[in-house]
Parts: sequence; structure tokens; C-alpha cells
Amino acid sequence: MISKVIEEALIQRVEDVLDDSHHIVIISHENPDGDAIGSSLAMMHFLKAYGKEDVQVILPNDVPQNLRWMPGMEEVLVYAIQPGSSREKLQAADLIIFLDLNALKRVGALAKELDGLSARRVLIDHHEFPEPFAPVTISHPEIASTSELVFRYICRSGCLNYLDYNASVCIYTGMMTDTGCFSYNSNQPDIYIIIHYLLQKGVNKDEIYRKVFYAFSEDRMRMTGYLMYKAMELMPEYQTAITAISKRKLKSFNYQPGDTENIVNMPLQIKDVKISIFLKEDNPVRISFRSVGDIPVNRLANELFGGGGHKNAAGARYKGKLSDAVEKIKAAIPAFVESLQK
Ligand code: MN
Repeated sequence: MISKVIEEALIQRVEDVLDDSHHIVIISHENPDGDAIGSSLAMMHFLKAYGKEDVQVILPNDVPQNLRWMPGMEEVLVYAIQPGSSREKLQAADLIIFLDLNALKRVGALAKELDGLSARRVLIDHHEFPEPFAPVTISHPEIASTSELVFRYICRSGCLNYLDYNASVCIYTGMMTDTGCFSYNSNQPDIYIIIHYLLQKGVNKDEIYRKVFYAFSEDRMRMTGYLMYKAMELMPEYQTAITAISKRKLKSFNYQPGDTENIVNMPLQIKDVKISIFLKEDNPVRISFRSVGDIPVNRLANELFGGGGHKNAAGARYKGKLSDAVEKIKAAIPAFVESLQK
């Protein structure tokens, strides 16, 4: 079927830990995206089908509107909204499974609740350079989504019969959102074998696409228009687009969490634009980097702002003025692009 990616010994170790655990908490990163939520809910559905009665997903903060329909969402605890119940679940847990994050700081304020807990830790992730906070770590940066890794784990542990319809929907959603609907990081043939399997489980991929991507508010649509028409700046000689939006502007478009999702990818639709950078003034400034092909924007994110991520998709934060961050980027782009041509 699909190629073996995860080391056999690790599959066994996760299985052993699972068999030994009865109060399981699943945690993913702050500002959860489709892959964070998809992998977490898929793991929850799987573990319940597998016979675990106490499985709780805890997300650091709330979920974007267009992902709230995902099956199992009604059972999720959001730490920022329900800190008390989240804390209780964590303190009772004998296993915490971390998904789609490479460092504990990615869970934001939830991190302080993890101090001193005796629960075992398992990490399944696809970001580069995972920090050693989980004794059992499955890390595969070459795999496009954590949801795909969750599928691979379930498949390899011989438990595909416990992968139900709801888990399949969640895995598909994570795979779809982390590859921009299979438009980047998506050349691995195995991806389509997995999708073939998920479709056989009854997943309606066209419906999921519409639910996730055709779910804008009028405000969001108008903000997109503003950003592309007015805010985007091009540096044609460096095939780079920079788009920034201030807090005031966000407010004028009645900004809701998730409203700027995917904006960073839009300038890449311009022929010859290979690098797109999107900045949002959000205390601090949040910066997203995207690139095409062999351009390592994670290096740029790291060198300029101490950020990180994948080769074609990275992020960073900047504690300072929005305009200063934009200037910093503009000043660095020429040398960065020239360094690639060597
Ligand atoms: Mn991911």
C-alpha cells in the first residue's frame, strides 16, 4: 500500500504507551489550523474507537469559524475559554499526545499548565527541529501534514479497522489545508493512495472543500479585495510580494480569527511571484512567509525575526512597529534572493 515512513520501533513504542494509558489528553498548537484540529480530532476518534474511554482534545485558543463543523468539535476544550476544566483534565491525564507542534512554547499560555505533570508524552509532528520534550517523538518534516502522519501511524499499527468515517473526514481536512488543497508539498504519490482510502470510507472531499474555503463573511471578502488592490507591494526584480495590514484596518473589516488565513498564498497566483510575505499587526506583529520551489523562506524568517517553519511555509513574530517590520524585510530581500542564485 503506502511506503513505510515511521520507524518500526517507534510504532511499537507508541502502541505500548497507548495500551498502558487510560486518561489521554491531545494537545495541538495555538491558533489551530486545519491540520492541528484535523490531526487532533482524528486521533481522538481513533482512540475512542480503539476502546479508550477518556480522551480529551484541548486546544490553546479558539478555532476559526470555517473549521467549527469538524466532527468531534463539540467535545473539544478550549483552554482560553475553559481553563478550569482543561486544567482538571491535564492533571488527571496519564498520557499527553502533542500533535503538529515542535516546541512547547507553541501551545502559548497552556504551557504553564504542563509544568510538573507526571503524564507520559508522545509527539507526532512534521515541523523541522522538534525540541526534546516528549520521550516518544515521531518527527517527519518531509511529510506534508501531521494528519497524514496520524493516518500512517494508525495504518502501520495495524488498526485501520478502527479508523471510522469521522476520523477519515478529519484526516482529509488536515491533509487538504496543509497543502493548499494539494497545490504545494503535495507531490508524494502516497498522499493520493491515502486519499483513495479515505474516499472509500465515505469522505466527501468536494463538500469539505466548500465548507472550509467557501465560508467567508462579506467582511472577509472585502478585506481580501482591499489587501490585493491596495496593500500588496511588489518587488518585481526579486519576485517578491509584501502585504501588510494594520490593527486599525483589521478592525474596520470587523476582523475575526481566521479571517487572514490563506491571504499570504494569494500573491503567489501572480506569474513570477515566488516569495510572498504577509504581516498582520496583532501585538506582536505576526508574519507569514510563503515561497515556491527551492526558496527556503524558513531561513529568512529565522534570520530576520528568529522565526521558523518549513522551506515553503514559515512564520515569525515581531515585537515592534508594523512599518519597521516591513522595512526590515524590504531591506533584506535583495541579499536573500541574490544568495539563492549562487
Ligand atoms: Mn501541520
